Amino acid sequence: MQDELNSIEENAILDKTILLKINNKILVMFESKTTLSISETVQYTVDEDYHEKKLYLDLMSHELLGKEVLIKRYEFFLQGMADLAGKTFSIHININEYHVFFLTVIEGELTEEVNYTTLIYQFDRVQIPSKHNKEVIELQQGATVFERGFVESGYVTPGNTRIVSTCDSCGISFLYRMYHVGFSDVDYYYCDNCTNYLAVSLGDKKYNQLLDTLSVKRISTFSQPYDFSDYEIQLNIENYKLIEDKFIPCTCGGRFKYLANCLCPYCKAPYIDFFNDLFRKADHYYVVEIAEPKSESFYGESTWKE
Ligand SMILES: [Zn+2]
Ligand SMILES: [Zn+2]
Repeated sequence: MQDELNSIEENAILDKTILLKINNKILVMFESKTTLSISETVQYTVDEDYHEKKLYLDLMSHELLGKEVLIKRYEFFLQGMADLAGKTFSIHININEYHVFFLTVIEGELTEEVNYTTLIYQFDRVQIPSKHNKEVIELQQGATVFERGFVESGYVTPGNTRIVSTCDSCGISFLYRMYHVGFSDVDYYYCDNCTNYLAVSLGDKKYNQLLDTLSVKRISTFSQPYDFSDYEIQLNIENYKLIEDKFIPCTCGGRFKYLANCLCPYCKAPYIDFFNDLFRKADHYYVVEIAEPKSESFYGESTWKE
């Protein structure tokens, strides 16, 4: 126990200098031996003659002999790839005692009040390599928004939050927003070929009848696998197939399926992979709507073939 306490104390300092550069200029620097956790906010205004649609934020460590090593490159851009020139942002940096780095960008000056119309951009967290700390972030490919740390338990992600995340496969970043489907009582079905999705209300009479086609106990959020026999799980899958047959096809020619994954808009690898697991899907009560590059969503009467 004493050993554990000692090691936490020893761990809770930076063992190398950490820098965050923006477009190759140093934005903030934390010296080696700085005590963790760290929380810092800086204001940044983009030059008026900046004509690119992306800013690059490089998290770097300063190694021996002055060598700089890139830990992660963050790309920042606005929805619709709107102009960045002349815009001011507040950039929040946190490094917790486990060396996990969090980056948040908020539109506007530091002194400006943040309200529900202010957009807040959150980025993938990353653990700064340290000789003391063991890995605390172990993400498998296709991790959920919960596993990626974008949802805090007991706390609903506000509608003005935007996530900028990097595909695990191709490394390209995209921007999305999340909708809590539990509160709006909808089910969502991703296209099996693109990032579009279809949402259907639990209050939809036709949907309700279809859900009951095979009269099976339905697997829903917080359902436990041990409460269902293999036969019941199979019936759930069969019932979804009957429903999927009634949906319009996607504009890309793909099909909306309950177990279709949330795909990367660039390489189509699963960004969130449900691994064909009904329980994993049912527990994912946030639907991810890719906003840049923009995807389409379908809702209401127009979702049915006839
Ligand atoms: Zn990709
Ligand atoms: Zn599609």
